[in-house]
Amino acid sequence: MDKSPGNPLPTEEAVTADWLIEQLGAELIRQEPVLGREFVPLGRMSQIARGPGGSTKVFFGVRCECRTAVVVSFEAAVEKTRDQVLQVLSESGRKLFEQRSAFVRMPCSAHDRLRADNFKRS
Ligand SMILES: [Zn+2]
Repeated sequence: MDKSPGNPLPTEEAVTADWLIEQLGAELIRQEPVLGREFVPLGRMSQIARGPGGSTKVFFGVRCECRTAVVVSFEAAVEKTRDQVLQVLSESGRKLFEQRSAFVRMPCSAHDRLRADNFKRS
């Protein structure tokens, strides 16, 4: 595969939070053109833990029609290259949809409680 020899920067291959959010966002829309757009990228929440065992974690917000919102996340190990992340991108997208489904399947009365709990904690 062409590794873009014109660009010698090794960081070119590194998985950054911005890149990960962009790829996942595009994948979600590819899989479900309507539902995929309901995922709001939360770039400012991204967490990057460097070193062995570290990971790049990114978050998306999804909202129920009762206006309760929940955050879903995806994590890639720092050792992973962009190619490796892209290879499992469709599966990663499906997992995000599963996280969303688990949330929207809950009755809105449960969402209400969730929201009340959030207020108490903050
Ligand atoms: Zn709801």
